[in-house]
Amino acid sequence: MLRVRGLTKHFPVRGGIFLRTTGHVHAVDDVSFDLDVGETIGLVGESGCGKSTVGKALLRLHEPTAGEVLFEGRDITTMGRAELRQLRRDIQIILQDPFESLNARHTVGKILEEPFVIHRIGTTQERRRWAGELLERVGLSPAAASRFPHEFSGGQRQRIGIARAIALRPKLIVCDEAVSALDVSIQSQIINLLLDLQREMHLALIFIAHDLAVVKHVSDRIAVMYLGEVVETATANDIYASPRHPYTQALISAIPLPDPTADRDRIVLVGDVPSPIDPPTGCRFHTRCRHAREDCRQRKPTLDRVRDGASVACHYWRGLS
Ligand code: SF4
Repeated sequence: MLRVRGLTKHFPVRGGIFLRTTGHVHAVDDVSFDLDVGETIGLVGESGCGKSTVGKALLRLHEPTAGEVLFEGRDITTMGRAELRQLRRDIQIILQDPFESLNARHTVGKILEEPFVIHRIGTTQERRRWAGELLERVGLSPAAASRFPHEFSGGQRQRIGIARAIALRPKLIVCDEAVSALDVSIQSQIINLLLDLQREMHLALIFIAHDLAVVKHVSDRIAVMYLGEVVETATANDIYASPRHPYTQALISAIPLPDPTADRDRIVLVGDVPSPIDPPTGCRFHTRCRHAREDCRQRKPTLDRVRDGASVACHYWRGLS
């Protein structure tokens, strides 16, 4: 369904009184992955690693600097306005902050009818009825249509965001930190709702989050990002059972264990994430990698396939597992 090749997004940094471009933030560099119908890929990494930028670039909410994004064979990056409008029926996004993403001056009914209005689908009565049905489908009362977003809790607002995302029966939804701002108990309700909808509608999901435990629960495959690049991909079970990249190993070691008596060696990453304006040479992770060798500073590792469905970008992964 989706084929991403070499996706790159650099944001210009401007300075001086003439606001000249003085550099670029390398938010996303050369990211590639595939996604099948009904499949979920999890994008994980620390804040600022570029995972949200990937999600937004797929929908052209950020214009990609380079690369190809093929959705059902059509390249999104070269689409004109009319084609993009059509595409938005097939690809939707759920954002982290449901309060920011819902228009506070509109009733929930108006918010849910808007996708149908934009795409000129149905009559006024039909749109009203569909809005009520959408609310029911996400576990809210149809009577909620006459209320405003601020009258709802965070979890309820996210349900409204989901209702809006599924209104046009999309094929793919980008969930950009969709549950990160919610309490743990509410998180699981929203995740279960998303999984139910996925089964029912054969939806593909791109699940972006920094919480690896959550991502493992929902994803078929996982791509780990560091400083704008994918450093490892594998099935969810594989990556948790035997992480190959030193960064993935550190992330996995930081997941709390449900058993407080269980022991696990935590790998603590030292130092901050380097600036994406001037990323390190060679392997971008070398400034924090406990296995870094001299040539890691010079030689950039490529994302090489290590077995079916798994790839890693590290020169020395074989000696580390
Ligand atoms: Fe660490 Fe070198 Fe592997 Fe990069 S290439 S992750 S610095 S061992």
